[in-house]
Amino acid sequence: MENIAAKVVIITGASSGIGEATAKLLAANGAKVVLAARREERLQQIVDEIREAGGEAVSFQADVVSAEAMRKLAQFAMDRYGRVDVLVNNAGIMPVSQLSELRVEEWDRMIDVNVKGVLYGIAAVLPTMREQKSGHIINVSSVAGHVVSPTSSVYSATKFAVRAIAEGLRQEESPESGIRSTIIAPGIVDTELVNSVTSPGVKQLGEMMRGMSISPDRIAKAIIYAIDQPADTSVNEIVIRPTVQP
Ligand code: NDP
Repeated sequence: MENIAAKVVIITGASSGIGEATAKLLAANGAKVVLAARREERLQQIVDEIREAGGEAVSFQADVVSAEAMRKLAQFAMDRYGRVDVLVNNAGIMPVSQLSELRVEEWDRMIDVNVKGVLYGIAAVLPTMREQKSGHIINVSSVAGHVVSPTSSVYSATKFAVRAIAEGLRQEESPESGIRSTIIAPGIVDTELVNSVTSPGVKQLGEMMRGMSISPDRIAKAIIYAIDQPADTSVNEIVIRPTVQP
């Protein structure tokens, strides 16, 4: 993993699941990782584990729905390490439900975290990456960013949006600025994501889905594959799902 070592990588949603697994795998391969999320204690615990294993990591409490907090996160990484090589736009929530349930607050929240959070992440690092003439933004979408199913309308809409934003970024930034954009589209992964479901019928489905899930490590490996490519190679999208998932 020669292209991972010493890279400065910011990861949002690093306090659990895919973000945590990615932070640990990156640090084990020599990257300097900046872990961000809202739960400070969880972040600190993961940072301690990474350091005990000989890796380099710091944490920063940030809510991705705040553009200001995202700017501060990028500034924190700059102050600490002097550059930002990669942003993993990973934070997300999935309170899925039927549209007829009119869970309007959950729709708003999903759009804020999953879409605006990704945009604010891009806004926070793009000027620095343009100045550096290099950078890589990994955007975590979903298989639900390719297909819609009952109860997933709004979640899918946010994940379709992530793919649109990431692909637009790729087209605008390469080749001139040397900035790469990658979409990661996981299927069902065993994480805390289903905990954000409040609709009773869907909660049951969520538990059932957990039975066919794969480990977050598999997604971390896909993310690392994209980051490890030399500067002349751009991984546009990786779709990765459990073999048993239709
Ligand atoms: P987890 O629930 O384990 O992780 C979600 C992470 O996002 C947590 O670290 C959480 O931290 C963070 N987060 C949530 N809201 C905010 C916020 N407002 N500001 C900052 N951080 C926030 O789930 P996953 O690891 O599964 O999810 C990671 C990404 O993967 C999401 O974008 C999800 O949509 C996507 N994905 C997941 C799939 C799956 O089956 N698990 C399938 C396809 C895509 P905290 O609460 O501390 O802020």
